[in-house]
Amino acid sequence: MLNPDNNKRRQLLCLDYMRDQKKLTKDEYNEAVNYKLVFTNDPNFVPSKEVSKTLKQDTKINSYYVDYVIDSVIKDLKSQYGYTQSEAYRMIYYGGLKIYCALDDKIQAAAEDIYVNRTGFPEEKERTEDGSNGTKKKVQSGITIMNYEGRVVAMVGGAGKKTINRGLNRATDAVRSPGSSIKPLSVYGPGIDKNVLNYSTRLLDYGIIVNGQRWPRNFSGSMGSEDSYCILQSAVAQSLNTTSAQALKRVGLDTSFDYVTNHFHLSTLIADGDNTDKNFSSLAVGGMSRGVTTLEMCAAYCTFGNGGKYYKPYCYYKVTDFSGKNVYLETAANPEQAIGEDTATIMNRILQTVTQGGGTGYGKGVSGFTTYMKTGTTSDTKDKWCCGGTPYYCAAVWYGYDKQEEMQTGGANPAANIWSAVMNKVHDGLPEKDFEYSGTVVSRSYCRESGLLAGAGCTQTSGGWYKANRLPGVCDGSEHADAKAAAEAEKQG
Ligand SMILES: [Zn+2]
Repeated sequence: MLNPDNNKRRQLLCLDYMRDQKKLTKDEYNEAVNYKLVFTNDPNFVPSKEVSKTLKQDTKINSYYVDYVIDSVIKDLKSQYGYTQSEAYRMIYYGGLKIYCALDDKIQAAAEDIYVNRTGFPEEKERTEDGSNGTKKKVQSGITIMNYEGRVVAMVGGAGKKTINRGLNRATDAVRSPGSSIKPLSVYGPGIDKNVLNYSTRLLDYGIIVNGQRWPRNFSGSMGSEDSYCILQSAVAQSLNTTSAQALKRVGLDTSFDYVTNHFHLSTLIADGDNTDKNFSSLAVGGMSRGVTTLEMCAAYCTFGNGGKYYKPYCYYKVTDFSGKNVYLETAANPEQAIGEDTATIMNRILQTVTQGGGTGYGKGVSGFTTYMKTGTTSDTKDKWCCGGTPYYCAAVWYGYDKQEEMQTGGANPAANIWSAVMNKVHDGLPEKDFEYSGTVVSRSYCRESGLLAGAGCTQTSGGWYKANRLPGVCDGSEHADAKAAAEAEKQG
């Protein structure tokens, strides 16, 4: 032990604060004051599992998950007890607290294995930071994995070997533009929830007019055209930008922003001022002033796998004193219904098609498990995302350079590759399981030309999922290409 007297003084300081805040009775206070301090670097120290995970800050490099736990406990001690940063810090490192982590060791190990070894990371050329100092930089990534009740089961905040404690954690701290991965949260989810969109809504594949200009382009570079349409499910699977802008026009910026910030709890968007994210660029294609984190994206995407419930993410069950008798912090699950259960089921069904033929996440699903997913690329290709889940877990991955720079990835999405590598490993050996779907959502055949329910004269049909009490009308064939051509010919003739 480096300085036992100092440590004792710190303990007394903390106890004084706790007594002052009425968190300790007089008896508890006296008992604690007389408690013999045993430190983790003391020869007499017998580590309990919980303590050994958190208190070795001098002797070993902790996982990103433990970094996140420490940061969370500090934040919660500050907000619930009014401690300053350094007081909360001292309580954790010198106060003998027991922290019961929510970590799943096996899942964390699976994710770390991929990240430490950079397995499946593309061979990006190492670049020189600015040419002068010769520092090489490698492309980076972060991942958060949760179950469907708010428990963060694993987190990795960087690729390669971790060398410091509580440094940059890209899973929680890197706020980056989400690109198209925002669309289910800002456009399609809210639109279906508000009944202005459905599974097969026919959307114009043509940009809208913003500041006198036709905007946006699709990822392929195409502008679309004024007589080109796409069915919503297919527009999501292909991640068209034009249709997203058209759909957002129907949803409205205020509604969209309300869902993203108040229903899905993305806290890093800017509400007001010159840099506000309440605009088409941020909400239709995810080009934001600041951006989002994998932690918050993961928590938001969980709603598509659990019937629409939002759970605040947690990383510890409780924090107690050394004896375990006094509970300082405790996590309680208080889910909110972020979107309707039926909306969640329909979004889940739509996002499943992203991993199927024609989708941007084709082949990236978890082998043997139904997978919903959305990929994301910012228009400048500085950020790549992949968010999605299986019946067991949901995960969000960001990929890019720490100092924003365009990536040469071709058409590939390395975030989806990493998502797939980690999640396949996590699910290895798990028993079969499927999603619980809403009983008020029904399957119907629809006309691919009109987006309406298939009528007698419709030849191009597919299956879609709808709210039973909000079925689209039945197609009468008037929107079919041959009918329109005939009408046009008659007008001319
Ligand atoms: Zn039809």
